[in-house]
Amino acid sequence: MAFKWLKRKKDKGADEAEADSPAVDEAAEAEAPAEADEEAPPETPPETEPHEPLAEDQPPEDEVITTASEDEPAGKPRRSLFKRLRSGLTKTRDFLNTDIEDLFSGKRKFDEEMLEELEELLIAADIGVRTAMDLIEKIARKASRIDGVEELKSILREEILALIDRAPEDEGTGMAKPQIIMVVGVNGVGKTTTIGKLAAHHAREGRKVLIAAADTFRAAAIEQLTIWAERAGADIVKHKDQADPAAVAFDAVEAAVARDVDVVLIDTAGRLHTKVNLMEELKKIKRSVGKKIAEAPHEILLVLDATTGQNALSQAQLFDDAIDLDALALTKLDGTAKGGIVVSICSSLNIPLRHIGVGEKIDDLQEFNAKDFVEALF
Ligand code: GDP
Ligand code: MG
Repeated sequence: MAFKWLKRKKDKGADEAEADSPAVDEAAEAEAPAEADEEAPPETPPETEPHEPLAEDQPPEDEVITTASEDEPAGKPRRSLFKRLRSGLTKTRDFLNTDIEDLFSGKRKFDEEMLEELEELLIAADIGVRTAMDLIEKIARKASRIDGVEELKSILREEILALIDRAPEDEGTGMAKPQIIMVVGVNGVGKTTTIGKLAAHHAREGRKVLIAAADTFRAAAIEQLTIWAERAGADIVKHKDQADPAAVAFDAVEAAVARDVDVVLIDTAGRLHTKVNLMEELKKIKRSVGKKIAEAPHEILLVLDATTGQNALSQAQLFDDAIDLDALALTKLDGTAKGGIVVSICSSLNIPLRHIGVGEKIDDLQEFNAKDFVEALF
């Protein structure tokens, strides 16, 4: 795997992206499972769609909406958020902690062999080979201090935090109104769900939200988004399925300006009819909203699925090369024991990880906070 592009994002030349473009299509297409639904009638209801498990997997709408207020009495939101984070990271925490404890079984002193085992363990948790090697090097220097599990965990926390904690970003883009956020990612990573959760978050903060249904690939995708918009209390702009995504996005921005909207969230497709190049379509959407508001989209948010492991890193590269990303959201951390991917993403990409998904419910999206993450991990 090539690491050359890592950590150089912001200074890359505009033309560099072209060199990689043949791979872009391939990888984006590769993520999309081959399926028969291309020929399916557009009116297929979401319940029968294999790729829209929302309707089946989710508890009834009411339940989803009420969870937040029941679990989060005023005054304790931070503690409750941390509890959710911890519970979302249970699989990864159990995996790491059990094995770290096993490292010490029958031994008291931290030795070379344990260091090697620890490296394997970190790689197995998807921290990434390069990052795991860096971490091990740092831990090796402190090995003489390590005389038990707790000491090792505390050093791991310290070193991982040093790798992933970043200076806070400037809030420049947050000032725009309407703020246009374009959400991209391959099929099934959780774009629509993340938009629903983000919409609910902004609405709770008192902002007026409008969602653009620019994933026009199938009617079911638009229906799924409509349900999320209703839950979140957001407006939605949609056309018929198969409509031009760029036109939907343009109309949404126009409506947002007319209706005094604060935040526009644009849903996009993760795959298209085989003849259409996904990246070209996304560029078209980008240009189209830029015609209405020159600085828009203010943010391009790539959604990545934590359960896809290191593959997420190559997706980030491909999208960044094609459309220049501003931020990342990592979903389904609750569904994997390989939450180390967070460390890999933060340490090797120059794109900030802004949101993490720790469940399917409307309030299961959190702003990523490195300190809380590390605390919740061990
Ligand atoms: P899209 O194709 O990118 O729009 O993906 P969807 O938003 O339709 O999500 C695909 C599936 O992932 C749905 O079943 C979601 O409920 C599920 N999903 C999304 N985010 C999360 C998350 O943070 N945790 C879990 N467990 N499931 C999630
Ligand atoms: Mg979708």
